[in-house]
Amino acid sequence: MTTLTEEIRACPVCEARFRVQAVHSCGSHGADSDFKPHYWGVDPLENYVHSCIECGFSGYHQDFLDGVTETVIRKIRKFLSPRTRDLHRANAPFFKYEFMALIYEWEDRNSLEVGDSFLKASWVARTRSNREKERLYQREAVRRFEEALEIGECEEQETRAIVSYLVGDLHRRLNRRRRAETWFHRSREEYDLLGPRGEEEYAWLGDQIRRQLEAPADLID
Ligand SMILES: [Zn+2]
Repeated sequence: MTTLTEEIRACPVCEARFRVQAVHSCGSHGADSDFKPHYWGVDPLENYVHSCIECGFSGYHQDFLDGVTETVIRKIRKFLSPRTRDLHRANAPFFKYEFMALIYEWEDRNSLEVGDSFLKASWVARTRSNREKERLYQREAVRRFEEALEIGECEEQETRAIVSYLVGDLHRRLNRRRRAETWFHRSREEYDLLGPRGEEEYAWLGDQIRRQLEAPADLID
């Protein structure tokens, strides 16, 4: 079950201090085909990332501690501060992840990290039944994941296999059938390059790739 705990955050941009509900514990059982976990009880995703409603700064707990550079602060003030209204919308907690993804991009973090933030934004949008935002964030995420593979950011063979699969599944969810199929085949090739380790440690991935090629489904069994 998800349990939350009250914590204080201090904004590294405008120094506002505010209370947040942070995740204390949670557990999951199974997942959607793009790895969105099925949690026991309340979905904790909305409480991992917090935003400063004064200026728009958003991030995980560690991001609040790490601080931001002057260049990024200027961008936050220019592009996010005028949008803090979005953060007040009760049914739209995905904006926190969107703002964080933009900040990560301005910080020149790697494409995997930026892609992961957009992916999680799309998960939150799905939980909130906002199909339009879900698709928008999926498009942003898949672009970053393809880029990560292209520029060699995924150093481990298993990461290449998993991210290629995820690219395939995001295209599938965006109704780009041909591209999805191409990427599932590519993930199959990356998976095969794992050799015996594939069957030993990542049998679930082999099964999942096969399944999405033969009879695609939105859930991982
Ligand atoms: Zn702030």
